[in-house]
Amino acid sequence: MAAKETLVMKFGGTSVGSADALVKAAQIVKDARAEYSRVVVITSAMSGVTNLLLDSASRAANGSVESLPAAESTLREKHFSAADSLIKDESLRESTKREIDSLIRALVDLCKAIAVLGEASPRAMDAVASLGERMSVRLLEAVIASAVIKSKAIESTAFIITNAHYQNAHPDFKITTEKTRAVLNPLLDEGIVVVTTGFIGATPEGGITTLGRGGSDYSAAIIGSVLPANDVWIWTDVDGVMTTDPRIVPSARTLPEITYSEIAELAYYGAKVLHPKTIRPVVDAGIGLRICNTFNPSHPGTRLIANTPFDSKARNGPQIVKAVTAIRSQRLITIEGRGMLGVPGVAARAFGAVASTKTSVPLITQASSEQSICFAVPSEAAEQVINALQNVFADEIKDEDIDRVWMTEDVSIITVVGVGMRHTPGVSGLVFTQLGDSDINIFAIAQGSSEVSISMVVDAADTESAVKALHGLIVASSKV
Ligand code: ASP
Ligand code: MG
Repeated sequence: MAAKETLVMKFGGTSVGSADALVKAAQIVKDARAEYSRVVVITSAMSGVTNLLLDSASRAANGSVESLPAAESTLREKHFSAADSLIKDESLRESTKREIDSLIRALVDLCKAIAVLGEASPRAMDAVASLGERMSVRLLEAVIASAVIKSKAIESTAFIITNAHYQNAHPDFKITTEKTRAVLNPLLDEGIVVVTTGFIGATPEGGITTLGRGGSDYSAAIIGSVLPANDVWIWTDVDGVMTTDPRIVPSARTLPEITYSEIAELAYYGAKVLHPKTIRPVVDAGIGLRICNTFNPSHPGTRLIANTPFDSKARNGPQIVKAVTAIRSQRLITIEGRGMLGVPGVAARAFGAVASTKTSVPLITQASSEQSICFAVPSEAAEQVINALQNVFADEIKDEDIDRVWMTEDVSIITVVGVGMRHTPGVSGLVFTQLGDSDINIFAIAQGSSEVSISMVVDAADTESAVKALHGLIVASSKV
């Protein structure tokens, strides 16, 4: 009998993206079920599907439905070819395909309606976006059943209850807890593997919402924390969290352990391993989290660990810097003027103006002379942000209290992350020397008061050399 109690596992888009991947996923579920008596499986849409759905809806909003037949046949081919090769039982295979087909037809109907209206509301976009997970959950259920494991597919709209903030909905944890337990526990207690949709929820009135792009990780964290589970495993297509992007530094390696605050910084600074919202529910509930590779399941992956006090004699040596990331395609915006000195409220108005454009700001610096405020925004939002700032400060610009509001060309934010930096003087010196030695100019610097990361803004052309140079510090520090 299974030794451990409850496990929640989430499979990402590539982990369910083909017949081959689905076979691996089913085997993983089987192995997990031998170890745990209660297993919940959360699935993303098959890779590429959510993008295709959203693209069809956006085209429809512009009045174009010509690409719909192509989208339909891509979706059929993707799901049906997997169903044909993996679902042995004919009636199960046919009923699964029929259900998926009716979801594909729902896409066509929704897109036609959007085209007639000439616009897609956030609610309509969520109705469309939810279809991918609603298809994959049926496919995965049948594939798992074909591997002779008792399983049942349930759409998470039945128990993840959210507010009506479509496209980025927030769960109501109280109702979600009650419903999740009420719906899932009876099945789990019977040993049935529950397969459910990632990324989606419903308002109390039943409107389908989504939790934001990449939200299936968050779904896993929500379900894991409310049940609660002993562990949450996120199955993806890499061996875990890496020291940096291996496309830039081929010697990048998997980190066996990472603390919650480190991974939060990494997720924030562009490493797409885990949806940033995933961390909070599992930390709050004290649940273990592991990131592992569907295509290399015997690899232990990366374990998230509590923020233990830094021990310089830890077995891996003092890993002061643990990872390096880059966010590309950013612009630095600077508001400059001697008239800003000591005037309260300038920063509040500046960021109010930025917020009015719905742009989020990954990095801010202000020198103590208070004569300039400088921050980064994604390049595609920069023009709009500049306009908003010029509007809000029109008077100050006229009176020359603000001399100018300007932006750079494309830059990258390079971030080094490591909890050990908090207790180690001289890390920033090492970081800057490393960049200086590689002739890389730094435009701006920011360090959060948590001291878990230092970010530097460099010219877009220096992105790769900056990452390489700073990755050198990881190798150096782990050899000490
Ligand atoms: N399918 C959704 C997306 O692509 C959610 C997820 O995969 O996490 O954003
Ligand atoms: Mg993802």
